[in-house]
Amino acid sequence: MLKLVDIKKNYVMKSQDPVRALRGVSVNFRQNEFVAVLGPSGCGKTTLLNIIGGLDRYSEGDLIIKDKSTKNYNDSDWDTYRNHSVGFVFQAYNLIGHQTISKNVELALTIAGVDKKERKERAYAALEKVGLKGMEKKRPNQLSGGQMQRVAIARALVNNPEILLADEPTGALDSETSVQIMDLLKEVAKDRLVIMVTHNPDLAERYATRIVNMFDGVITGDSNPFDGKGETYKEEVEVVNKGKKKKSSMSFLTATSLSIANLFSKSKRTVLVAIAGSIGIFGVSTVLAASTGVRGYIDKMQDDMLSSYPLGIAEETVDMTSLMSGLYQDPDSKIMEFDTTSEVGLNSMIDYLMDRYSDFTSVKTNTIDDNLVQFVKDIPSQYVSATSFNYGIDPTNNIFTEWKPNDHEETMKISLNGLTQRYIAELKTVDGFSQYASYVDLFTDFMKLLPGDQDYILSQYDLLGESHFPQNENENMLVVQDDTTLTDLVFAQLGY
Ligand code: ADP
Ligand code: MG
Repeated sequence: MLKLVDIKKNYVMKSQDPVRALRGVSVNFRQNEFVAVLGPSGCGKTTLLNIIGGLDRYSEGDLIIKDKSTKNYNDSDWDTYRNHSVGFVFQAYNLIGHQTISKNVELALTIAGVDKKERKERAYAALEKVGLKGMEKKRPNQLSGGQMQRVAIARALVNNPEILLADEPTGALDSETSVQIMDLLKEVAKDRLVIMVTHNPDLAERYATRIVNMFDGVITGDSNPFDGKGETYKEEVEVVNKGKKKKSSMSFLTATSLSIANLFSKSKRTVLVAIAGSIGIFGVSTVLAASTGVRGYIDKMQDDMLSSYPLGIAEETVDMTSLMSGLYQDPDSKIMEFDTTSEVGLNSMIDYLMDRYSDFTSVKTNTIDDNLVQFVKDIPSQYVSATSFNYGIDPTNNIFTEWKPNDHEETMKISLNGLTQRYIAELKTVDGFSQYASYVDLFTDFMKLLPGDQDYILSQYDLLGESHFPQNENENMLVVQDDTTLTDLVFAQLGY
């Protein structure tokens, strides 16, 4: 089934001698057995398991899977192997805390591109197999350690892999619970290869059908070696897996929930843009759904849309996908068990959002340096309509207008930004408007750098009357609506 031929693994680190974690491991595993790998801490057990499972690459030697060398495997071959043929169980369970256990189990299927209904059925079946029927909607923190490890085993089994790898699965459990988990693994090993790393020789002795001892990166003992004779493998597995591979694409639902996600953007300055952008994304996803194949139309649509709602790279952004994933797509990931015919459930959205938000993985910091700028400049023209760089300069600080306050005799010179602030301050004193004053800021971001070149801009806008494209640094373009109007707010900010 699995054959390791003189596998070596060196961890190379800067300015240090390489760590020789595996120093020539040769071993052959049967299609169906329960192997325990024993050995002191640091002897290379985890490294071995990771290499067998395709989580890590060997430095030398060969891993032969069903008579096939993996020497020429590329990333996608390893992905296929990992996602379809191997299940992993770790000491630390590695469950996702805010998802129900059924969602946790579904994870591997989601990655493999299985549709929602089938995912759920298979997850429920796997949970039943490990003795957790009826607990599908509980969260990991409502479970005991033994139950969490059962969830992890269900997750590893849901793909029905031929190989199950377990790294000290009972390491964090008391002896009574350990025995239950071992019983379960023994059951699991009846129709597949299970390789388990453990510290506990007693458990290994009692449950495993074969014990492999390791010391200092080599195998020092094997209670039941295998010469590889008598096993034949069908080709079909690989073919099926190849066919199953799905191209990842943003589904209509994902696009839609992403745009809803945008509405929750933290920064108030971007709220308006986000709303506009959401509508834009809605537009595109609707068009995609309604007219797949009408490529030219979509391109035009995107071009037009992006001129109003460009893609931006900012120094700090919130990864809305990770923040929002699950919230709108998976109603049962957040609703407690309740009777849908007679009760109204609580969807604790705010909790969920705060939870995910404080999880700093959703806040991304981009390093905007010369390399990135050059990279953006070098993007081939077929991929972008126009690019513009924003250096954080607010031109309204440097453009002045004449303005006459109500209580003044004479006009004064004031920067456009200063004028906006005066309006806001004044609004705050007006009954009935004061509560809106702080929102005015959101609508007053009206000065923008021109994006791209003249051709691009003229593909989106008409020049009206006698006007001409700006020639000098002290010229602005005034962008008006289709009916040649500007809002009172813009007029006011220009000092009229
Ligand atoms: P075990 O699981 O038997 O305790 P490991 O396989 O985790 O042992 O580690 C074997 C050796 O390889 C140890 O000396 C460990 O420090 C080293 N090692 C493991 N992973 C890495 C890594 N990513 N980088 C450098 N050294 C590593
Ligand atoms: Mg280890």
